[in-house]
Amino acid sequence: MHLISCRYRGAERVGVVTGDCAGLISARDGWPRTMLALIDAGPELWSALASNPDRAIDERVPLSAVELCAPIPRPRKNIMCLGWNYADHVRESAGARAAEIPEHPVVFTKNTTSVNGPYGDIPWDPDLTTQLDWEVELAVIVGIGGRRIPVADALRHVFGYTVINDISARDLQFRHKQYFLGKSLDGTCPMGPVIVTADEIPDPQALELRTWVNGEIKQSSSTHYQVFGVARVLSILSLGMPLEPGDIISTGTPGGVGFVRNPPEFLRQGDLVECEVQGIGRLRNRVR
Ligand code: ZN
Repeated sequence: MHLISCRYRGAERVGVVTGDCAGLISARDGWPRTMLALIDAGPELWSALASNPDRAIDERVPLSAVELCAPIPRPRKNIMCLGWNYADHVRESAGARAAEIPEHPVVFTKNTTSVNGPYGDIPWDPDLTTQLDWEVELAVIVGIGGRRIPVADALRHVFGYTVINDISARDLQFRHKQYFLGKSLDGTCPMGPVIVTADEIPDPQALELRTWVNGEIKQSSSTHYQVFGVARVLSILSLGMPLEPGDIISTGTPGGVGFVRNPPEFLRQGDLVECEVQGIGRLRNRVR
């Protein structure tokens, strides 16, 4: 299934996308009214919905008639993010920051308030940062929680996948040593446009991902080149804390980001940044 959160006629709805059509899930009869409620409901409801969506859908509208929101507009926890998780990104950054492929994953988080819609404007305050940068990433949505999840079992815990642009204020990121502030500015976590459920992506390590700025390609790689694949990441994260339904894990960005270019490139007023992961879709966000 391709699932969306959206606004339609003033109400927030969850929908199932088929082609150019959004089937909006009924707000009655006990059907989940938010994506988090849908994820919390568990595998039985997911299967019921996948096998017979008509039972849950009470309205079909053109996709163009709804306003897409981030699939999880307000996560319960910070978005967990991997740093230096593609070998080419480590190499290109060697002069600037980290030189070695990490032996253990680098993990930081983005504030829940940074979440933006798939087509929302990215607010830019040049007094606060002059170094807004792009990072296309495959993000994992946890469906079934757990602790000490074995690698071999880990993909069973995934609800689905989405796209995140981990927009980063490099000046703040490096000035404050820890990444949190530079990664958490308002609107700097565009997410979506859909969650593709895990059954449709049996191998998360075979997805192409790309970024364009004003139509010019900046990043082009494949999740095949991740240092720590999705299953290992879930396993390692769950060693000492629970993963819970609705948790979001963004799995790092490949080479081609702006701050290591020569000369460095950063986003400016009016720029259109687009991030795409194969089989999921494309984010389109303008800097304002
Ligand atoms: Zn990132």
